[in-house]
Amino acid sequence: MKKKTKQKQKKMAYAVTHMLFAIIAVELFRKFVIKNNKIFPRYYILVAAIAGLIPDLDIAAYYILYFFGFTLEQIHRTFMHSAFIPLGLFLIGLFIYKTGIKSTKLRKRHLKLSTIFFIFAIGTIIHLILDMIYGSIPPLYPFIQTTIGLNLLYIFPKTLQELIPATIDGLLFLFWIMWMEFKLKIDNYF
Ligand SMILES: [Zn+2]
Repeated sequence: MKKKTKQKQKKMAYAVTHMLFAIIAVELFRKFVIKNNKIFPRYYILVAAIAGLIPDLDIAAYYILYFFGFTLEQIHRTFMHSAFIPLGLFLIGLFIYKTGIKSTKLRKRHLKLSTIFFIFAIGTIIHLILDMIYGSIPPLYPFIQTTIGLNLLYIFPKTLQELIPATIDGLLFLFWIMWMEFKLKIDNYF
């Protein structure tokens, strides 16, 4: 791991890669650990897809903050890419779990609000790990702004730096389509 410059932080995994990594991780957990669709309905896969995108909500925020004079570097991979985000989501999940807060709407679908927040936390962690492999993030933002990461993309020539994330995107999507076709019945999905 090494410190990197601001401009290097810009390299990011694609949104689809983020969603698929979170989806596949949760699906494999369901298949090999939980092994029971009743206590782990596949709606949680949808939750995982959203969870995988949470840190990049800073890009959504940037569409608004742009008009207030902010630069992308000031917003993207700052507060939303800090370890405090998954920690906060986990603590909210824990609070809901401990206090027994329930949502009848979710209960009808055999979903638990606390589990949703735990998946949000896990999906966010997976996102941050991926960003740390591709590039770097500031895990202790806003207290310490130093970024850490493997910056693996930068060991490749410039043209490949664009090509590799797109290829990984495609391969993950292919894997997911095959998984749905052969391991799950697409028709019964959800
Ligand atoms: Zn990100």
